Amino acid sequence: KAKQKGRNNYQVYTPAIGDKALERMVLENNLYKALQRAEFLLHYQPQLDINTGKIVGMEALIRWQSVEKGLIRPDQFIPVAEETGLIFQIGEWVLRTACEQNKLWQQAGLPPIRVAVNLSARQFQQQDLVKTIAKVLHETGLKPEYLEIEITESIAIQDVDFTIAVLHTLRSMGIHISMDDFGIGYSSLWSLKRFPLDKLKIDRLFIHDFISHPKDAAIITAIVDLGHALNLKLIAEGVETAEQLKFLRSINCDGIQGYFFSPPVTAQAATEILNNQTKTLPKLDYLKTDRL
Ligand code: C2E
Ligand code: MG
Ligand code: MG
Ligand code: MG
Repeated sequence: KAKQKGRNNYQVYTPAIGDKALERMVLENNLYKALQRAEFLLHYQPQLDINTGKIVGMEALIRWQSVEKGLIRPDQFIPVAEETGLIFQIGEWVLRTACEQNKLWQQAGLPPIRVAVNLSARQFQQQDLVKTIAKVLHETGLKPEYLEIEITESIAIQDVDFTIAVLHTLRSMGIHISMDDFGIGYSSLWSLKRFPLDKLKIDRLFIHDFISHPKDAAIITAIVDLGHALNLKLIAEGVETAEQLKFLRSINCDGIQGYFFSPPVTAQAATEILNNQTKTLPKLDYLKTDRL
């Protein structure tokens, strides 16, 4: 960009741009250190069966506990990790930690659930992704059916045939594949046609204000029907109110995830939630009145 503007364009040297580049270099360097110093941790958010109210999964969401800046959300550092390739190491750490945790829950005698792990598109460019996942499952002793991989439509940008082959292999191992943030990409229907999937996660953008935007309700309903016609399970993300829950139930959505039930919490708090499921069920009071 700078070159296009001409050699003598002073804008290239403005402090604003320099600061940004510097900030990025510092961040990149700190990410390396964070890995070495074990400053990453996972939070977990419950995913519920809408009809039974039971927790059927936990989504693992990475956090960075930085000494200087406190708890940092993934949006602040995952993009840089992707650009630098650090995502490969971070991604493997996430996978291993999530699988270990799920194995611990099973060993504690809790009813088995799936742990859902977000994979970046970039990780699908890794030739040995399947090998890495197989290795982690083997080492942690978690059965593949208790692992779910969340991908986004952005994986459609790269070598599609290779990506599809990888997804088929993962599925044949018994791992579940779900399409995250469904509906907001540029190629949602095309993705449905090409990618082998088990589940769609309806993006929270549609859930957020469907009450004031009648179009959203129609879109959510159509996504649920389309997904079911393709033999997929549907889960709504970002469910924050009883009203949203009620609507999702009326259109036969299969699952919910969101602040209404629980925000992402530490591993310890997630363990407590799993241990005390019956205490949290009153939130889903419709369970007492009908369908059961
Ligand atoms: P995502 O996978 O779509 O995760 C859902 C995000 O929505 C999470 O943000 C979660 O905290 C937030 N959320 C959950 N319920 C609600 C709700 O009811 N209302 C609202 N407003 N938000 C809700 P978070 O944890 O900041 O993660 C952001 C994104 O970062 C994730 O979006 C995912 O794309 C990415 N990410 C997180 N962990 C990882 C990871 O381990 N690896 C990779 N590659 N990406 C990750
Ligand atoms: Mg996700
Ligand atoms: Mg999502
Ligand atoms: Mg998202």
